[in-house]
Amino acid sequence: MSHQLTIPPEHRTTTPTATLTQLALTRPPTDGPNILLYDIETAPSLVYTWDQYKTNVIATERDWYILAFAYKWLDGRKERVVSLRQADTYDPESHDDRHTVDRLWALFDTADIVVAHNGDRFDQVKSNARFLFHGYSPPSPYGQIDTLKEAKRYFRHYANSLNELARYHRLGTKIKHTGIALWLGCMAGDPAAWRQMERYNLHDVRLLEELYFRLLPWIGSPGHVNRLNWNHFQPSGDRHRCASCGSGDVIKRGSYRTAANRFQAWQCKVCGHYSRSPFALGEKTELR
Ligand SMILES: [Zn+2]
Repeated sequence: MSHQLTIPPEHRTTTPTATLTQLALTRPPTDGPNILLYDIETAPSLVYTWDQYKTNVIATERDWYILAFAYKWLDGRKERVVSLRQADTYDPESHDDRHTVDRLWALFDTADIVVAHNGDRFDQVKSNARFLFHGYSPPSPYGQIDTLKEAKRYFRHYANSLNELARYHRLGTKIKHTGIALWLGCMAGDPAAWRQMERYNLHDVRLLEELYFRLLPWIGSPGHVNRLNWNHFQPSGDRHRCASCGSGDVIKRGSYRTAANRFQAWQCKVCGHYSRSPFALGEKTELR
């Protein structure tokens, strides 16, 4: 006997249909995987407490929401920022973040891979919480790369913030800002605060791209979880390509063993990343 769940109407989701073009968002490059770099800025929750230090929230006046986010398609055109004040219907009193959330959803839906610094614990899950709040279904599947996690996986730096990693590797530094005053200024609708927030947000996504390129040869090396493989985006039967950057300029260098098999390892002459053939050495047929 077949059965299916009866989802109560209040829990049904909608899948947004607006295209990137309709939402005035930049499109990814036409070839290869769609890799989205992004960084969100949230408004703090407004709450009551009895004390200033080491205290508990006793009541919530207003929940946090997404003020702005900056994004860039890897290999694509310039970074862009989307902020609530850009909405035609912008009203600082409303705190409705549909303008940012709808656009973030559309970008995730288009992406094959999304990249954020601390995304696994912040940007990604914060965004998801807002998708859920607005009753949207999950965006179509994509892989996630968290540059913070990758930085910790392969290296030991003394700190792993975007700012610190960028400083250490001479990639640039974050723009100094005025702290919470900047957030409060945006929430109050102050244009100067918004401009500063947008500048700050754009700069972070630029640093993120620099860091991503720097980490690229290490991310997804054989033996580690591989969340991006350019070979999956090439015509089938094409020669082996660098899994990290898609270059065909690869040489056989070493091999990679699992408990059962040995695979040809390839090193990219452009970015230095190692990747492996999809089929084991000695096997007659490709697995895919
Ligand atoms: Zn490469």
